[in-house]
Amino acid sequence: MAGGEGHNFKQLKEAILTLSQATDWELAKKEWKLKQIYEADEAETCLCGHTPIIEICVLSNTLNGQHAEVGNRCVKRFLGLRSDLIFVGIKRIRADISKALNTDSTVFFYEQGVLTSWEYQFQNSTLGKRAMSPKQLEIRHRINQKVLDYIQRQGI
Ligand SMILES: [Zn+2]
Repeated sequence: MAGGEGHNFKQLKEAILTLSQATDWELAKKEWKLKQIYEADEAETCLCGHTPIIEICVLSNTLNGQHAEVGNRCVKRFLGLRSDLIFVGIKRIRADISKALNTDSTVFFYEQGVLTSWEYQFQNSTLGKRAMSPKQLEIRHRINQKVLDYIQRQGI
């Protein structure tokens, strides 16, 4: 691993600026929000030129509706959006489906409409819970599986 040296900030910055309203980088980067995340089936290339990337973030510009697909690492490093916390949450439930989906992922996937308001409430009341009833565990599994299916389906 080349400690992030494969990530060409200048190239990413130019690509993002082209799609932004502002021409000032500090201002322009605030125009972007995380719209969607997915894990690519086949390696893709980040706007910075780095390849392969698997953890893809779809960003949308809140002012002009433009979209950009950027690797998880660049999103965190250069745009300051914490998409990494969502990928951490996903890895955690993939490794152990009986674990609760973390808070960042819970809010994000609720915003995405992947989780229903009932499921969001369920997460709210069971996040820190260790002793779950069999029924609650079943629901947690179902929620986790739904999220795992969702992020893979986006890659097709
Ligand atoms: Zn990149």
